Amino acid sequence: MKKCCKSIRTIVECVLVVLVGGLAIALINRIPDSSEPKVKNIIYLIGDGMGISHITSTMIAQQYTPLALERAEYVGLQKTYSSNNLITDSAAAGTALSAGTKTYNGAIGVDDNKQPVENIREVAEKMGMATGVVATYAVTHATPAAFMGHTESRNQQDLIAEQFLDTNVDVFFGGGQKYFMQRADSLDLVGKLQEKGYTIATSLEEIADIKEGKVGVLAARKGLPTMLKGRGNFLPEATTKALEILTANAKKNKSGFFLMVEGSQIDGEAHANNLEGVVAEIVDFDAAVKIAFDYADKHPGTLVVVTADHETGGLTIINNNNKFDVAENPIAYHFSTGGHSGGMVPIFAYGAGAEAFSRVLENTDIPLIMKSLLAE
Ligand code: MG
Ligand code: ZN
Repeated sequence: MKKCCKSIRTIVECVLVVLVGGLAIALINRIPDSSEPKVKNIIYLIGDGMGISHITSTMIAQQYTPLALERAEYVGLQKTYSSNNLITDSAAAGTALSAGTKTYNGAIGVDDNKQPVENIREVAEKMGMATGVVATYAVTHATPAAFMGHTESRNQQDLIAEQFLDTNVDVFFGGGQKYFMQRADSLDLVGKLQEKGYTIATSLEEIADIKEGKVGVLAARKGLPTMLKGRGNFLPEATTKALEILTANAKKNKSGFFLMVEGSQIDGEAHANNLEGVVAEIVDFDAAVKIAFDYADKHPGTLVVVTADHETGGLTIINNNNKFDVAENPIAYHFSTGGHSGGMVPIFAYGAGAEAFSRVLENTDIPLIMKSLLAE
């Protein structure tokens, strides 16, 4: 009996030694601070067409006064190519960034076989989280569409608008009246959305008193004006409002939220090779980044990821006359194309889980990492 007790004690002691030893090794190996909370909320900001030279041009225009995105704690790079082209379009890149699947240019939320692929907003929705999309172009346009619908072609914007009804998205703010309110067919999409409990408005002012619930704002026929043409503060204001409503809805659900915010028109200005327009659009986008980073500061458990879908314009910053040794030599901006280019684009990450993005990634890795962080 005594012998037996002794051997049991030895086993218990052995187990304890193994456990304590294992714990010590686990603690030594643990890189993230154990006080860092798990990822509860995700704010995903996408600057359409925003390459490193576009950001640098904005820094120069602001005389290197730091941009909000420079507050990022971790920086990475991502490869943008699509499944059928080294130069991606915004639909394939949007699908890669939303669903983690490389697909053909023009595809919205479908793979090479034209089969729907689940996007990170849908994953969040299934987990009971509140979700939203904010854009300055139509909410049915390629980038936000990749978080909302599944179509063989980005041109099927009427169908993408109909697919909003298949979701439980909490907020969608942007343009796109044409596809919801001014449709060629007789479908009353606004009526159907209202039946589902949505408030549908055509300006942020109209919803100023709404603090929770399901809300859509369609503030233009297609896209809102560019910054140079007077868009004003729509993007930062829409971001603030979306965060207010999503925070309230998430609290009600006892969940977190997922929000995608697109700086939609950096791309258009770069297609037009309009540097002043690019800078104005990035300054506006950066204001939304600031709001997201400030939110993360106040709400531990919030991950903010800022990236682009691709570079537009092949922008370079060069000396005007190729003489580097002359003081005050004026610089020149050179666009090499009216289309997209194939360079890697930056990732700026902040808050809970941000360290996972400090690498060279595929664009498809980003939503997959987000998904695994939400599952922790
Ligand atoms: Mg876009
Ligand atoms: Zn483009």
